[in-house]
Amino acid sequence: MKTVRKVLIVDDSEDIVEYFVQVLNRCTSPVEPIFALTHKDAIEIINNQTISVILVELLLHDACAKRLVNSAVVKNIPTIVLTSIQDKKESFQKLNIVEYIVKENRSSLEYAADVLKRVLKNYDTTVLVVDDSKIAIEKYSKALKKLNLNVVSSNNAKEALELLQDSTTKISIVITDYNMPNVNGYELTIKIREKYKKDNLSIMIVSSMDCSDTIVSCLKMGANDYLLKPYNDEMLAVRVTNNLELLDLFHQTKEISHRDFLTSLFNRRYFFEASTDIFNNIQKSDKAVAIAMIDIDHFKTINDTYGHDIGDLALKEAANILKHNLRTSDLLARFGGEEFCILLDRSSQEQSKEIVENLRQKVEENVVKSGDITIKYTISIGLCYGKYKNAEEMIKHADDALYIAKHNGRNRVVLFDDITNAHCSISK
Ligand SMILES: [Mg+2]
Repeated sequence: MKTVRKVLIVDDSEDIVEYFVQVLNRCTSPVEPIFALTHKDAIEIINNQTISVILVELLLHDACAKRLVNSAVVKNIPTIVLTSIQDKKESFQKLNIVEYIVKENRSSLEYAADVLKRVLKNYDTTVLVVDDSKIAIEKYSKALKKLNLNVVSSNNAKEALELLQDSTTKISIVITDYNMPNVNGYELTIKIREKYKKDNLSIMIVSSMDCSDTIVSCLKMGANDYLLKPYNDEMLAVRVTNNLELLDLFHQTKEISHRDFLTSLFNRRYFFEASTDIFNNIQKSDKAVAIAMIDIDHFKTINDTYGHDIGDLALKEAANILKHNLRTSDLLARFGGEEFCILLDRSSQEQSKEIVENLRQKVEENVVKSGDITIKYTISIGLCYGKYKNAEEMIKHADDALYIAKHNGRNRVVLFDDITNAHCSISK
């Protein structure tokens, strides 16, 4: 379970508060928006509740919010100032706030919303800083912690590689110095790229060498970015944020290409990719697995009788029942149409039979309701269990068993027996 993050919006304009509440309500991670229209209320909230981020206008009806910003910073609450006061940026930036944004137009609100979402994401984002200078590491850490990032560090490449491998938290970005004894930042980048791809881990090289040949070779060898020294905190922040946003985009694109649009289950393509890894592991351990092919009975009749909207609803509900009654280690995908496939890892033949028989019963008990329409439907399941080299052969046997299940009256599970090559019905 992810922690619900409370975000405090402090502004005496109800429109602004409403805008950010809407932004937060669209967040995919669990967030609770809280708002205060006065300085007094805001102070009371931060003294009595655990707040994860504050977004604050300095100019409030009852006070200037400097005391609030100070208290928030002391309490280590990441604070974003979004204000109509133009000339206080420098004095507030010294207070270790995330960012000082001047309210100019709609774009400044949108920018503030992006910063807010980034700070929330950064609770779960880790940066690895590699630099042989202790002072430099401290400088990076201070600037990165302002963005609410988790920071781990190392003063040499060897240890950095070990940290990447062993860290319990996933590292999203490596910021490395170029000039280091033994292995420099360029060589470290090459070593990292042997294992970690650009769409999974970002690398930023930092150097005072303003030489285009060096910059080009660093970028060619897999660095995502090259930051020139001397840099200021704001420059580092914006470059790190841009790199993290790119990683998010890579991640989202991958998610979309792996998912079925209607049900959000994995698609056939992802199933074969993921099952290849599982079968590779099985070969080493000599374990058996189960594959189940599932098909909704008389699905065409549902579509023809009630229309495609109800058909889609039936598909979504079937997908949800399957998803919620499987273990996290099971691989579930929609193969197309009304057909689903499951790979059950780490279970005996008996357990596999019980799991899929439970799915059959759960779908049989379900009632799909939409307006005045209520429908019930069933599924047929073909199951194959055993030690195989790949998913394809198992799917073929499971498909044969599914065919028998359909032929023998539907709403049943049929197991393909790999020893006798016979099929047996296991539903009551
Ligand atoms: Mg150095």
